[in-house]
Amino acid sequence: MDLQFGVRLAEVVRNGDEVVATAEDGRVWRADLAVAALGMVPETELAERAGLDVADGVVVDQRCHTSAPGISAAGDVTVQPHPLRGDRYRIEHLGNAQDQAVAAVRNLLGVPTPYTPVPWSASEQYGVRLQLCGWPAAADAYGERGCVVRGDMSTLDSPALFWNRDRLVGTACVGRPAEFEELRRIVANHPHADLDLLADPATGLAVVGR
Ligand SMILES: Cc1cc2nc3c(=O)[nH]c(=O)nc-3n(C[C@H](O)[C@H](O)[C@H](O)COP(=O)(O)OP(=O)(O)OC[C@H]3O[C@@H](n4cnc5c(N)ncnc54)[C@H](O)[C@@H]3O)c2cc1C
Repeated sequence: MDLQFGVRLAEVVRNGDEVVATAEDGRVWRADLAVAALGMVPETELAERAGLDVADGVVVDQRCHTSAPGISAAGDVTVQPHPLRGDRYRIEHLGNAQDQAVAAVRNLLGVPTPYTPVPWSASEQYGVRLQLCGWPAAADAYGERGCVVRGDMSTLDSPALFWNRDRLVGTACVGRPAEFEELRRIVANHPHADLDLLADPATGLAVVGR
């Protein structure tokens, strides 16, 4: 894989079986297929027509209720309360779509189930397992204190820990799936655990908070 940053495209055209992308600086790339990954826009037209509150997504509360009695919503299209910032946000991951849907149904059935997720997602890229959880963007500016690597990131087998003051707000794990599960638990239940302890690769994470 060859990553190119800071490139401005002049044009992308189909030429027979090829797609040809030309940069403003004249460089040219040819491919079988071009994929535009430009972010997401929630499809809220139906909700708007139904009179639900919509603000960059269908607004729901912690019970997954929309602004209309008896109508609940779950998944990418919802904007839900952000536990750290106090405003609302969308979570665009499979785990949220599944878990929020379960909470929505339980609440509809009369089983009070507040939904306060620690968002997480996982992916496999070129044989490397990537897992993220929490709110890394809420970390202090990514410096010495904001982002601490537990080990050595160049090994492609380490977690990065994101901090906001003395609170662990998220993690990004390259490899280490077992450590990721422990860190997810710590972000959710013991976010004020000691930074130096967590950052030390010699610390067994299973004992933290237990
Ligand atoms: C390329 C790509 C890669 C991804 N990779 C990952 C990943 O590695 N890990 C991860 O956790 N997540 C990943 N995601 C995100 C994940 O796919 C979504 O979070 C998940 O699918 C959300 O589920 P959902 O049910 O909320 O919405 P969707 O899966 O988008 O389903 C919504 C459905 O509603 C339908 N719909 C919309 N409007 C109407 C209407 N008016 N009437 C009837 N039907 C309607 C749509 O057609 C769609 O079928 C990826 C997404 C993309 C696009």
